[in-house]
Order: sequence, then C-alpha cells, then structure tokens
Amino acid sequence: MRVMPTGIFFHYQQGERLKDFPQALDQVLDKDDVFLYDAFYPSKPRSCFDLEPIPIETLHKIHSSEMVDRVKATGNYEGALYSVSGSLAAAVKIWLGKIINAFVFTGYGDHHVGSNFFGGGCYFNGAAIAIHELQEKFGAKRFAIIDTDAHHGDGTWELFENNPTVLYICFCSGSSQEKNQNVNIHIPSKVRDSDYLALAKDAFHKWVKPFQPEIIFWNWGYDGTIGEYGDIGLSPDFHIQMTEEIKGLAQGICEGRLIIILCGGSRRDLAVYLIPRIIKILVD
Ligand SMILES: [Zn+2]
Ligand SMILES: [Zn+2]
Repeated sequence: MRVMPTGIFFHYQQGERLKDFPQALDQVLDKDDVFLYDAFYPSKPRSCFDLEPIPIETLHKIHSSEMVDRVKATGNYEGALYSVSGSLAAAVKIWLGKIINAFVFTGYGDHHVGSNFFGGGCYFNGAAIAIHELQEKFGAKRFAIIDTDAHHGDGTWELFENNPTVLYICFCSGSSQEKNQNVNIHIPSKVRDSDYLALAKDAFHKWVKPFQPEIIFWNWGYDGTIGEYGDIGLSPDFHIQMTEEIKGLAQGICEGRLIIILCGGSRRDLAVYLIPRIIKILVD
C-alpha cells in the first residue's frame, strides 16, 4: 500500500521562535513520505517544492480591501501572504489526495483576523481563505476548525458565525454567544492536562463526529504552556497527546485529512521540542 505523504509548509520568518527551523526538522525531512514546501530556505533539501504567494484577489474573498491595505502598511505583508499560501496550498493538496495531512508554519495568522480587522500578531485568516477556496473551486461541503490556542479566536468566530458549513470549536476561557456551528468549550484559567484532554474528547464526540467534516483544520498554539505568555498550566507534552487525539479523530471521520496551522507561542525552546514531535506523529 502506498503511504500518503505529509506536507510541511514553511517560509522564512523574522523573529526568534522559529530561528531553528527548518533545520530542526532534518530528521523528519529525510523521510521519503515528507514533502517540504518552502519559499526562501537557502539550502533546500531534496524533497523541497516552491511555495508561491497567493494572488491578492484571493485575499479579497475574505478580507476587505481596506483591511488588506492596512496590513500592507505594517511591514508584515509578505510574510502574511506566504502564511496564507501555505494554508491554502496545504488544503488543496490534501483535497486532491497529493498529501494526507500538513503542518503549516504560519507566523502571521490566523484566528484574530476577521473580515475587516486584525491584531494579536495575526494578519490574514489562512484557514478561512483555504475553506473558501475549497468550497468555491472544489465543491467541498463541511469543515471543522479546532482552536486550542490559549486565546479566543475572535476573527475566526466572526467569519463563521453565519456559516453553517463550518464547525468552529474554540477552546478558551471566554464564552461568546454561540451561533450556528460556532461552539465554545470553556477552559479554566488554570487547567490540568488531563482535564483539558477530557473536555476535548467530549467535544470531539459531541460536535465533530456528528458533523462529519471532510477536512479538519487545527489552529494549534502553544501559548497556554507553563511559562508562556498565555500560561494556563499546560505541560509541553499536553500538545503531543492532543496531536495523537486529533490525528485519531481525523482518521476516524475524514480519512486522516488534517491541517495543523501554527498559532500562538513565543518560546524558541518549546518550538524545537514540540514541532518536530508533532510532525513525526503526522508522518507515522
Ligand atoms: Zn494566543
Ligand atoms: Zn473562544
């Protein structure tokens, strides 16, 4: 049986936390069933493919042109554009069966960006753009976005509150007004790994399985880890367990189709510890 590959979507980014990448993935990139899609990495490994920025018209499907202009003025436009390219390319390649799952290094997205606002280090909503394209061009029908960043995804919430084709499950300490398939899972401001995982399993059983998404997006942030800026008491290994759980969920309901989109988190040591392990789970 042919093994379906994993796609890693990376572009060089400013800032500290990803300074060790993609070199920190060397062990993973050696494997035959891992493809790296990259924009700028100077010494490309053999499995490397170029990543192109998306056309501006694609941004306008989700974000107002006035907001796009404001992003241009921040100086982070190019990085943000490549982040969206990664999410969109991952979604399309999964949909076409070229890869089974993906990890997208979005340093500039996703969940604090709505139709006409952005903030919190997010500039465009790559998941929303990818979902729009899969619906328009490929006729995909149902999507789930699981958001385990420590903060509320106000942008993703706004974009999908009137859209019954997208199940958005936001794990955070807030309690927004639920509408259509926008769901809150309330996480206490200090939580144990096991309690969070139990809440997640319940939510997946209650919401994701009956909804039967055709593809799962996971807005993964590690900012809720102990010592991070959104510390809610999670251990680093919580994220490894959650990856196993969500991979299993995707295998059970949508043939494994899963995109992990990197969200919050700032520590370089945690990135080096977590990201290669998470990608290895996707590959195995
Ligand atoms: Zn966050
Ligand atoms: Zn929330």
